[in-house]
Amino acid sequence: MAIERTFSIIKPDATARNLTGAVNALIEKAGLRIVGQKRIHMTRAQAEAFYAVHKARPFFGELVEFMTSGPVVVQVLEGENAVLKYREVMGATDPSKAAEGTIRKAHAKSIGENSVHGSDAAETAAIEIAQFFSGNEIIG
Ligand code: ADP
Ligand code: MG
Repeated sequence: MAIERTFSIIKPDATARNLTGAVNALIEKAGLRIVGQKRIHMTRAQAEAFYAVHKARPFFGELVEFMTSGPVVVQVLEGENAVLKYREVMGATDPSKAAEGTIRKAHAKSIGENSVHGSDAAETAAIEIAQFFSGNEIIG
């Protein structure tokens, strides 16, 4: 299996509850390595660009408000099958449907305030990583 990278965000509901370390522990327990990480406050423009694919969805405004409501931690994760593996570690979008042991089952507050983002494919991961990191900020 190939080593690949995925993009992660620890969302404002999680940073507000001081859960950065708890989320990172679950990421590392799954065998993923955090090879890039920084705490930022997303601008509205950054959030709108990042979630542009959801622009037509009824929750878009709420999502942008939420993602800019407090600090987030943006991350690059590396490992075998990292994209799919992280989606498994995150759990379902709706925490009431997330499996035991997943980040969202343990920590998410609702379908909107669901603690983490993870890329859905290798191509989107590359685009999302480039949106927030320059090459010299990722140290494998
Ligand atoms: P995921 O983050 O699991 O890939 P999506 O890409 O479908 O999920 O949605 C992006 C984000 O939009 C979700 O993580 C969540 O924060 C928000 N979201 C999705 N569906 C809803 C909804 N029905 N109501 C409010 N917010 C939502
Ligand atoms: Mg998604």
